[in-house]
Amino acid sequence: MKQLMIDVRRCNGCLTCTLACAAAHSLSKTIVGAMAEKVPSRIQVLPVKGKAVPLMCRHCEEPACVDACMTGAMRKDPATGIVTNEGNEQTCVGCWMCIMACPYGAITQHPTKKVALKCDRCQGREIPACVEACPNNAIQFVEVDTFAGERAKKAAAALSAET
Ligand code: SF4
Ligand code: SF4
Repeated sequence: MKQLMIDVRRCNGCLTCTLACAAAHSLSKTIVGAMAEKVPSRIQVLPVKGKAVPLMCRHCEEPACVDACMTGAMRKDPATGIVTNEGNEQTCVGCWMCIMACPYGAITQHPTKKVALKCDRCQGREIPACVEACPNNAIQFVEVDTFAGERAKKAAAALSAET
């Protein structure tokens, strides 16, 4: 199953992904419209030791947020692997248990509604908006093994160059 994978070395902190995320979740589906609608981004790009680090939900295999959610609003779709508190039968009541449980800090409080806000991997889109928008390919939507294979090849090339 494909996952959102981050190549931190490629990120230059341009924030294009955050704008694309907001646009994809707006009514207008445009960046300008999203700003007017005050749609928040579901990705954070955090500064760490002079580097920009994109951070969003990992859609974990065994999600702590799902275990913590007392209403059952937060669920993992077994078919797509997407973890979301939107579109499910039970509704989010804004108790923030999921925020306390997520080890990545990937869930935030919606700025205007009393619900938890997180990446829904752009449900319904083939490729998540952040992946499509990133000019540096820092966020990829790939099979985990593919990502690991590419990383292994680079590491092997670096090792061979040292010998
Ligand atoms: S669009 Fe890509 S390069 Fe820009 S901040 Fe997001 S991840 Fe980093
Ligand atoms: S919100 Fe956190 S705990 Fe839940 S699936 Fe995403 S990364 Fe995992």
